[in-house]
Amino acid sequence: MADANMPAPRPSARLDGLPGYGRGRAGQAETFRHRLGSNEAPDGPSPAVLEAVAAALEGGNRYPDLRGETLGQALARRHGVDHDMVAVAAGSIVLLDQIVRAWCDAGDEVVTPWRSYEAYPIIAGLSGARLVEVPLDGDCRADPAAILAAVGPRCRVAILCNPNNPTGTALEPEALDALIAALPPHVLVVLDEAYADYADDARTVAASPARRLARHANLAVLRTFSKAWGLAGLRVGYCLADPRVIAALHAVAPPFPLPGPVAAAALAALEAAAAVEARVARNAAQRARIAEGLRGLGLPVAESRANFLWLPVAGGAAPLAAHFGEAGIAVRCFAGEGVRITTGTDADTDAILAAAAAWRDIQKRT
Ligand SMILES: *Cc1c(COP(=O)(O)O)cnc(C)c1O
Repeated sequence: MADANMPAPRPSARLDGLPGYGRGRAGQAETFRHRLGSNEAPDGPSPAVLEAVAAALEGGNRYPDLRGETLGQALARRHGVDHDMVAVAAGSIVLLDQIVRAWCDAGDEVVTPWRSYEAYPIIAGLSGARLVEVPLDGDCRADPAAILAAVGPRCRVAILCNPNNPTGTALEPEALDALIAALPPHVLVVLDEAYADYADDARTVAASPARRLARHANLAVLRTFSKAWGLAGLRVGYCLADPRVIAALHAVAPPFPLPGPVAAAALAALEAAAAVEARVARNAAQRARIAEGLRGLGLPVAESRANFLWLPVAGGAAPLAAHFGEAGIAVRCFAGEGVRITTGTDADTDAILAAAAAWRDIQKRT
């Protein structure tokens, strides 16, 4: 490394003051028995996925698909959309970055309910756009009327995270449809559905991306293999949108978005969707146990449709997160706002509830 006193060229001032990406305590995994800070699946990839990766590695001397077409076509079939309505990338966060860079110039606005996903301010800031944060309602839910009121002429992108990270709350399909329909056509509406698989219920069809995309040319739906599909470490996300939107994403993205073995893993995961159903069922059971247990102990818990629970404890967030940490449980702390806890196994839930009971006892004594 060169001497630190040697002058180095300065990056753009757009980088000044941006928040950084946090990993919470997950980065120090070896000290935590319960890794519940990053909304990951508790179980590793299936043997079929591992075999597909190994087979694809044998072609490691060749370039992969120029635009991840093989996976894109499988996803198009799965969602019932045309093949030119899919873009893939190494994580849906990458696609969001592409969208904002393709749509926003310096001084443009990105509107989002807030608190929401911590990547949004970083991505907006990097493009020189201004993030307009619209407060959630009293139930930690997105507030459609307030969102509409915040959209002005400089707004180019509206990001709706549904279910919302970190609160887990979701708008009902009808309310979301009404909001999308009411947003002006010059605004690209990004529906971040990272947790949609966990919100699935009998009305999934009504909320399907294909049905919405048939009605709106200004909609981009983001999905990921990182959560219910259990492949966070392999980095695969995708965007479903009008072909003109997808073309703009391709224009700002370098070619070869996915390594061959990663695309193979995602394709193999798609072939074995039963694993997702099992994760969704496991999550629903653990989420209900945790929510009921924590509420029984007097802790506030938002209504979650995702694989995590939000405890809006405000100033209590840092001490509560530290308390969980001492019990070997990594959670995500949003200082001054709340604590987010990912669902895991039965043993994870047992540990959460035991630590929360101990917390309640400490609170009673002081
Ligand atoms: C985890 C998460 C993602 C997924 O990001 P990847 O880059 O696909 O791993 C996207 N949006 C939200 C809100 C998330 O919580």
